[in-house]
Amino acid sequence: MSDERWRRPCVPLRVEPVDTVVVVAGRALRDYRFVFRREDIERMRSGYVCLRCFEPHEHAWPEQCHLCRLKMRQDQAQFFARWFDPNEEIIRLGRDWRAELDGLDERRAKEEERR
Ligand SMILES: [Zn+2]
Repeated sequence: MSDERWRRPCVPLRVEPVDTVVVVAGRALRDYRFVFRREDIERMRSGYVCLRCFEPHEHAWPEQCHLCRLKMRQDQAQFFARWFDPNEEIIRLGRDWRAELDGLDERRAKEEERR
C-alpha cells in the first residue's frame, strides 16, 4: 500500500481571499491563498504535485504534467518560489495563476521573436 501513497489527492485545506484587491483595467481581481497540508506543500516543492492542477505524480519533476501539460521540470520551481509564503506556509495565487502558467509558451515565443 505504501508505494501507492503518491496517488493521494492533493487538496487545499481551505481557500481564502486575500485582503488586497488588485484592480486591472477596471476589473477588481482578488488573489487567493491556498492552504495545504505541510506534506502536500512538500510534494509541490519537490516536484511530485503539479502547481497548476494539483495532480500527483509518481516520479518527481516530470517533463510535463500528464493532466494539464504544465512543464513542471522547467517551470514549477521558480513559480513555487514566487508564490509560496514560508512564514505562513501558504501558497498565494493570483486569480489568474492558471492563465499565467498557460501563457508561458506563448510569452517565450514572443521573447524569441524580439531577439
Ligand atoms: Zn497539472
